[in-house]
Amino acid sequence: MHELSITQAILDIALNHAGGAKITDIHLVIGDLTSLVDECIQFYWDIISENTNAVGAILHFKRIPAQAKCEACEREYAIKEEGLLCPYCHSHRVVIITGKEFFVESITVE
Ligand SMILES: [Zn+2]
Repeated sequence: MHELSITQAILDIALNHAGGAKITDIHLVIGDLTSLVDECIQFYWDIISENTNAVGAILHFKRIPAQAKCEACEREYAIKEEGLLCPYCHSHRVVIITGKEFFVESITVE
């Protein structure tokens, strides 16, 4: 899994923005198509945030459900995975609208 490098990136961003202040909360936005697992990020977080200003910071996970739009019939619908045909007209001209997000939304410092 690539959660370790992802978690390292979160830590780098947080420490950069905090500018030496103690970090108490980090709000993350994660799309359901990213295959990132909250528990894995939390697991790595507890290890790599040790001895930094972010130790003990609470991670908040906001999950974005995956939505797709069919360019043939113009319907929007929820999806569980990528690469499926439109359930209405069976077109393959399907674009992902949401579900691939991954970013740090906000950081709270003391
Ligand atoms: Zn369609």
